[in-house]
Amino acid sequence: MGCLICNYADFDQISLGSKLLDASDFHDLNPLSRGFDYVLATCKNCGHSAIQTDNPCLLPTRKHDFIKYGEPTEHYSKITSIIRELDLNFSDVSIHTFSYKDFQLANFLASELKISDVSLNDHANCSDDWIPTDTSTEYLTNPLPLEKFFRNINSSLKSHQIILITRFLDHVASYSLIQKMLNLISPTRHLIFDLNDYDRLFKNKTLEFIWNERRNFFRRSALEQIFQNNNLNYSIFSYESLMVSPTLTGVISSRLTRSKKSAETDSTEDSTANLVEKLISLRKLWRNRLGENHKLGIIGSSHKGVSLAQFVLDNHVAYSLHDDKEALRGKIPPVAPPLGFHPVSGFDFSEYTHIAITTTLVIAAKISPKLRASGYEGEILDFDCRKLD
Ligand SMILES: [Zn+2]
Repeated sequence: MGCLICNYADFDQISLGSKLLDASDFHDLNPLSRGFDYVLATCKNCGHSAIQTDNPCLLPTRKHDFIKYGEPTEHYSKITSIIRELDLNFSDVSIHTFSYKDFQLANFLASELKISDVSLNDHANCSDDWIPTDTSTEYLTNPLPLEKFFRNINSSLKSHQIILITRFLDHVASYSLIQKMLNLISPTRHLIFDLNDYDRLFKNKTLEFIWNERRNFFRRSALEQIFQNNNLNYSIFSYESLMVSPTLTGVISSRLTRSKKSAETDSTEDSTANLVEKLISLRKLWRNRLGENHKLGIIGSSHKGVSLAQFVLDNHVAYSLHDDKEALRGKIPPVAPPLGFHPVSGFDFSEYTHIAITTTLVIAAKISPKLRASGYEGEILDFDCRKLD
């Protein structure tokens, strides 16, 4: 398969591992799922990075609905002001959500713009809903959850529809589904998207955003390329959250003036953003840090903690995984930590030489001093093997 952006078929590649379970696959019993092979690939022509896999899932979202991730919300007022620019009669507008991740924004817009017709539906739901039940082209291009989403939009009795697709673009595994989503846009249909700001994440020299359920690391310039190929008008902005990952948000609507490809993009792009090389360096850092007699405790078992174990650490590393989330108690994680899966609170880390904190920075800032106060003397690191104190 060629590059999603330029169709070039030559990549720098590195295996993330074989037979990997989804990073959010915390299960009750030993898994029935067999796992899949994953490769991180960077296009040698345009630099777009993606994850290639034999997993047929069309939209890896999360494995179970008890898994929840935090996303920024502080930029909602800026989205609202772009929507105001569309100059619609908001009493004659309906809002449609693609996933539970859109609910908060939908409610915010409804309240700010006095929109009363709001359909809060989670069509994305869980990854298993997106595994094709047959392999006909018909099914692959019209998966049932997407059909239901489109049906909901088509049933609107209002003159205009605002459609929310938070985190769709970087998770979706097939270009034809991106195309179908963009085809929804019409003079009366307006789309709001939201995804990680990968340009900024590349610049921050972190790899903590890579995980096997996220398929495309779209830079702003790549997205703009896609929108322009489709003759779409759009407004994009990036927002750096203090709480969670930086986000790239935009509105696509024919009521916006045609955007020129932003000049700012090129200057902010990191020309050394070859993720394959970066992952090789990160593996080396951890390998040099952890010797034979070392023990590592990974605190935080969401996608970052699991990914660290799945495809960054060497196979022989003695590590345990830790999380205090109630929903994960008693579950079997998607990796098999040699030293087990435990809570954080009350756990005795005194025998551990290293601790990796893979939660958000805000939570890490609270955990670190607590560990020190309890007498912990080993190294405290983040996903990228950088010291946290
Ligand atoms: Zn390319």
